[in-house]
Amino acid sequence: MYYLLTLIGLVIGAKIGIKFADIDRHFPEWLLHHRAFLTHGAIIPMLLASITTLTQIQLIRGFTIGFCVTNAVHLSFDLFPKSWRGYALIHVFDWSLPPVASWLWISLGILVSLLIAYILWRNFLDIIVTVGSIIFGFSVYAHEGIWFPAIAFFTSAILAVSAASLFFPSVGNRKL
Ligand SMILES: [Zn+2]
Repeated sequence: MYYLLTLIGLVIGAKIGIKFADIDRHFPEWLLHHRAFLTHGAIIPMLLASITTLTQIQLIRGFTIGFCVTNAVHLSFDLFPKSWRGYALIHVFDWSLPPVASWLWISLGILVSLLIAYILWRNFLDIIVTVGSIIFGFSVYAHEGIWFPAIAFFTSAILAVSAASLFFPSVGNRKL
């Protein structure tokens, strides 16, 4: 049952996480402009991580892992727009951040998302379904060309695991 609940949560989280950031397209621009700082960064993943920690519900833990992984895939593709202007930039309400700040905000979102997914792993099944989520995520946007996003994603994954061993040493010692 424990595994099943996590698994269900993970699959639903992965399915929602891949496109969730672009939900900002459906809001008035003065509130959530496309590539809003709220949806295209680390805020939602951190919120989900907090809910997981507070509730300790397996379904939510699975959901958070799945969501964070495919959200990281989405943001990895967003890191390579045709040019850094207009909708490519991160917006705070109606104001756009400069290109460097937008790039940093999205990169931080990828890093934090992957760090959270890594910290929340509890068993081998989590890892297997995470790998499945990554493949699913990349297949959704594959038509845009996967090499640069894949490099960004896996570089961030290495950085996230390194950051975890530095700041959360107990995470590295757990038995998966
Ligand atoms: Zn996006």
